[in-house]
Amino acid sequence: MSLTVCPLASGSSGNAIYIGDEKNKILIDCGLSGKKTEELLRSRGTSCSELEGIIVTHEHSDHIRGAGILARRWKIPVFTRPGTWGSGSQVLDSVPSKQQKLLLSGLTFGKLELDYFHLSHDACEPVGLLIRWGKKQVALVTDLGETTPQLEKRIYGSDILIVEANHDPDMLATGPYPYFLKKRVKGPNGHLSNDDCGLLLSRVLNEKPVQVFLAHLSQENNDPQIARLTVENFLRSKGRDSGIEIEVASRYCASIPFKLL
Ligand SMILES: [Zn+2]
Ligand SMILES: [Zn+2]
Repeated sequence: MSLTVCPLASGSSGNAIYIGDEKNKILIDCGLSGKKTEELLRSRGTSCSELEGIIVTHEHSDHIRGAGILARRWKIPVFTRPGTWGSGSQVLDSVPSKQQKLLLSGLTFGKLELDYFHLSHDACEPVGLLIRWGKKQVALVTDLGETTPQLEKRIYGSDILIVEANHDPDMLATGPYPYFLKKRVKGPNGHLSNDDCGLLLSRVLNEKPVQVFLAHLSQENNDPQIARLTVENFLRSKGRDSGIEIEVASRYCASIPFKLL
């Protein structure tokens, strides 16, 4: 058996991440249209009919846009925090009530064991996710303004990390966003910069080889090359320059998947 982890799209235009092995498959967030999500999932050989759950991290539209339509069309249960059901009700109410599930403790889908932890972000109850698969571990940490020692402890030693590298601080400072939005993005409830991402990674990697997706890049305030170089330089300066495979998650199409055996 192998576990596949594949961001289908990443960024403020829509987020969705496929995670599954040969038997059990789930989707994390569904911020694209239903049709686009089906198409992207099909492009990597999976059908929505195989999905056993959609796990929603928070109610921002780039994470929930297609959840209702996909849940209705394919009868997939949707799991999220109580506050997210409330704050995202305009979209999430279209999930049939029988399929509205609370994310209160860990969830199990065959060999996949999913748990959550709280994040600092301007949503009602935003969460990061930890997926254990046998002895392997996948962590998803996007849409957060700052990290904490508790968070770093939770995701330490993960085999695959999907971590936010939202903006380059200089591009944000000189870019087109109005002042209030710049302040929001770089604030404690906003998004992690490339430098923040490098720092977080340097604190949570152990000696094992690791696969990293840099995710949720801003279109206006970042560049995939700059994000990658910043993170690589940061890790090199901390003495970590081998055993780390880094991919930048694609904005509009499925990324090259990572696999665990
Ligand atoms: Zn987002
Ligand atoms: Zn968000």
